[in-house]
Amino acid sequence: MTHPAQPKASHFINGEYVEDTAGTPIPVIYAATGEQIATVHAATPAIVEQALSTAKAAQKAWAKMTGTERGRILRRAADIMREGNHDLSVLETYDTGKPLQETLVADATSGADALEYFGGLAASLTGEHIPLGEDWVYTKREALGLCVGIGAWNYPTQIACWKGAPALACGNAMVFKPSETTPLCALKVAEILIEAGAPAGVFNVVQGMGEVGGALVTDPRVDKVSLTGSVPTGKKVYAAAAEGMKHVTMELGGKSPLIIFDDADIDNAVGGAINGNFYSSGQVCSNGTRVFVQKGIKEKFLARLAERTGNAILGDPMDEATSFGPMVTENQMNIVLGYIEKGKEEGARLICGGKRADMDGYFIEPTVFADVTDDMTIAREEIFGPVMSVLDFDTEEEVVARANDTEFGLSAGVFTKDFTRAHRVIGNLEAGSCFINSYNDAPVEAPFGGVKASGVGRENSKEAIKHFSQVKSVYVRMGDVEAAF
Ligand code: NAD
Repeated sequence: MTHPAQPKASHFINGEYVEDTAGTPIPVIYAATGEQIATVHAATPAIVEQALSTAKAAQKAWAKMTGTERGRILRRAADIMREGNHDLSVLETYDTGKPLQETLVADATSGADALEYFGGLAASLTGEHIPLGEDWVYTKREALGLCVGIGAWNYPTQIACWKGAPALACGNAMVFKPSETTPLCALKVAEILIEAGAPAGVFNVVQGMGEVGGALVTDPRVDKVSLTGSVPTGKKVYAAAAEGMKHVTMELGGKSPLIIFDDADIDNAVGGAINGNFYSSGQVCSNGTRVFVQKGIKEKFLARLAERTGNAILGDPMDEATSFGPMVTENQMNIVLGYIEKGKEEGARLICGGKRADMDGYFIEPTVFADVTDDMTIAREEIFGPVMSVLDFDTEEEVVARANDTEFGLSAGVFTKDFTRAHRVIGNLEAGSCFINSYNDAPVEAPFGGVKASGVGRENSKEAIKHFSQVKSVYVRMGDVEAAF
């Protein structure tokens, strides 16, 4: 019998499901059991061509609609997504392994927020009038044209919506390639947009690995590439896009600092560290994986952290009581276990976890290392799993310098009751998305993105509009033209 997660076909182009079984089969494995639940096929060159030419053709008419009309469709899509939240959350859990407890509140809901927010903004995208005596200049905010979105595997619905909603609000068309690890959810986003009244071809989904992503990025018809992925992939995609002088948004990896001062509320700081390391089993780009704790509260913090981490419920992700799911794949599990071994070898003190959980699926126990030093591998490299490194510090000046000593700059957080210090520290940290007495909140109203190797551009908020549109300026002369001859 076909599994309920099996999509009707691999791709969604020009308003309908499309299949080409000549493409490499991609198995979809449910991370909680290791069972194959679906198969899709990577896009062949013919499918890539069909998606790009369809999107290119659909874009002009879409951009000619009023912002109010485009916005209405996006907001209708938001409503459909919210109505279908339960089924979409179950699919997200099949796609990623993340527990239903999370997916019910963080995935289709967040995607719907993006559709609603950018739907609301679509009608207000205007230019300016710049008076110059009798003459004037006016500006127009125009669509870029054909945009490519490429996703990572941790938030397949959210990533498709965070890219698709602002792109469409601005009058662009999009071809979206989900991660080959989680190919299912973006197809639903495409289906919902059509149901909401989007013209066929403005949002298309094609499957495939990096090769298909590469074919999309290098196509001369493409005006913009928005990638969510790792830094090495980001460097390749950015370089390929530069070749064609395309616009880019790069949402890449991190190794973000979370700084906890002696005066912090311990339970809130522990809560922040848990949210910033163990949500989605640690598979979150903005995670605060270097937890700097001031020496005065270190042991108290570790004791409370170990106690609360012990309350994590590992189990069937479809059981809403389960609060901690598996790694997305066996491969990712092995990478993370490799980092845990490195942590042990390099002398970090294991506080809790530290091994694969004794159950089916790719579960790793939530793991905390203390006495981590700046040079250890687990303090330098992005692990993308449930491994928290706790480092000690004495002074503010010292911790800021150490926190900034990394190639990454996605996020940063600080816990303290001293608000002057909180703002000063955040002001000195090299990061794009920051938190004071909180961690990992990502409302659509707030800009999201990194500095340094963690990326360029911003998603969400009005900032995303700037990255999916361009300004045309028009000089209007009222009098005669003066010329030298
Ligand atoms: P990845 O870099 O391996 O792959 C990301 C996507 O890029 C996939 O769809 C992949 O098929 C595609 N790709 C790979 N090579 C390509 C190429 N040469 N040309 C075009 N496309 C190519 O990342 P992943 O393992 O799927 O995801 C984990 C990474 O994503 C982590 O580093 C994480 O921090 C990052 N991430 C960042 C954010 C953010 O918003 N900053 C969010 C989630 C994940």
